[in-house]
Amino acid sequence: MSFAIHGIGVSGGIAIGHAHLVSRAKLEAAHYVVPAYQVPEESTRFDAAIRAVRAELEELRAGVRATAPAEFGAFIDLHLMILNDSTLSAIPRKIIESEQCNAEWALRVQMDALLAQFDEVEDTYLRERKADVVQVVERIMKALSGQPGYIPPPPADAAHSRILVAHDLSPADVVQFKQHQFASFITDLGGSTSHTAVVARSLNIPSIVALHNARQLIWENELVVVDGTQGVVIVDPDRQVLAEYELRQHQFDIERQKLKRLRDTRAVTLDGIEVELQANIELPGDVVEARENGAMGIGLFRTEFLFLNRDGLPDEDEQFEAYRKVAQDMAGLPVTIRTYDLGADKQVDGEKDHTVNPALGLRAIRLCLTEPQRFLIQLRAMLRASHYGRVNILIPMLMNTAEVDQALQMIKQARSSLDENGIPYDPNIKVGGMIEVPAAALALGMFTRKLDFLSVGTNDLIQYMLAVDRTDDTVAHLYDPLHPAVLNLLAHVFKTAGKVNVPVALCGEMAGDVTLTRLLLALGLRQYSMHSAHLLDVKQYILKSSLHEIKPLARKMLRTDDPDKLRALLARINA
Ligand code: PEP
Ligand code: MG
Repeated sequence: MSFAIHGIGVSGGIAIGHAHLVSRAKLEAAHYVVPAYQVPEESTRFDAAIRAVRAELEELRAGVRATAPAEFGAFIDLHLMILNDSTLSAIPRKIIESEQCNAEWALRVQMDALLAQFDEVEDTYLRERKADVVQVVERIMKALSGQPGYIPPPPADAAHSRILVAHDLSPADVVQFKQHQFASFITDLGGSTSHTAVVARSLNIPSIVALHNARQLIWENELVVVDGTQGVVIVDPDRQVLAEYELRQHQFDIERQKLKRLRDTRAVTLDGIEVELQANIELPGDVVEARENGAMGIGLFRTEFLFLNRDGLPDEDEQFEAYRKVAQDMAGLPVTIRTYDLGADKQVDGEKDHTVNPALGLRAIRLCLTEPQRFLIQLRAMLRASHYGRVNILIPMLMNTAEVDQALQMIKQARSSLDENGIPYDPNIKVGGMIEVPAAALALGMFTRKLDFLSVGTNDLIQYMLAVDRTDDTVAHLYDPLHPAVLNLLAHVFKTAGKVNVPVALCGEMAGDVTLTRLLLALGLRQYSMHSAHLLDVKQYILKSSLHEIKPLARKMLRTDDPDKLRALLARINA
């Protein structure tokens, strides 16, 4: 039976394909048939995961102090024993070979068999060891996820490809899907500027969040149409509806192709105002798409994604290589690298922060400053990369002077340590700050006096101004970039920074929303940074804009707080 589900479209376009349901549960495993020639590799992958967990447990064991309670050591010994037992370390391997399946699936099948045996046991002590088996399996699963293996290609019937359907996914989960070829991405939870949506947008495929119960209603392999522009999913469409969407999809693709012609055109308004359009990236590989879409620089490199989906942290050399690659690939164009914005919904181990208000807690610069050694490593890596291109350092979520001073002091310290070792870096490297806390936007002088440039993070700025959690779908309808307070604050930031000649960019999702392109231009923005997929759309709008025509309308918008009038004025600006 055909039916429709409504959510919030986070990335436009139309996808038609078969549903693939995924879950975040640690022990949930997809089942793939692995081609015969790949089976030995899959077995090797499993063995490597066992070895990694063994090393991890042995390291833990060695680290247990003599003074620690005896149970600590005994607990680790027990886990090592479970791991080394052939039921976990060898049988899954046999399952991989006999069933030609992926390692995760084999492990899951074997765990279920083991747990069933435990249920039969009379002895309470032994029965309770079930939890230990599960914990060891969780460790192996985690090790496997750090070394992705064979990814099945989309089904062969595929004019229709695969649509990823999930209840909730962390940004770390989504970034892993960059390697998969899903045609679309839909989730039950999430707001339109949640980091999950932000990354989904960067995949450049139609995606929808806040569908509430799509994962329950849609079946594995069911045919679905995703209209990312309208935020609608049509499940099991009839022939007529399907034909209609196939046509729309075709038209959308033609429009995209046409836009490509603008790649090398400068973004200049009809009345000669030049605008700089830059790209937001999460991983070094994203630069390819940025260049294909004519980005004039990287306005935001969200480096925290280098820290996710892995065991252990990237060391200085690994970070340096990542930053250097981006700096070199951008060939002299500016590359603004943000120090890691971890915390809240981007935790190093991929788990959610369980403090009561994680978005108000230890995240971004606050976290950096509590871990000076880790921060210093990143700063040194960024400075080293600055020798190979035009690198700027960007500090997220600044709130007061002390944070600016401490961050600048740390940069000074990183420079001195490089000087001592004779390691080159750009001595004129610029340091900027993100304006994403309302207090910072209101007391802008604290930042313009000490920093070389600013970048407005509207995703957080709006979340904090309106007290609307950007990750919570139940309040997503309240998230309003057109709120009079938001518009006036943005105008204040552009004007105040302009007066003292401090360049200001905007790198929140507003920058890539074509319905806001002209309004932001009229409010004074000249540097936009967005996901590559939006660059040409936005450029097209800039090229057709005339600043002197829209400026008076934007001024009127700043003077009204009537939502209907605001909408009507915006429509005139965009006409
Ligand atoms: C923002 O808050 O607008 C921003 C660009 O940073 P992030 O989305 O990574 O929090
Ligand atoms: Mg932010």
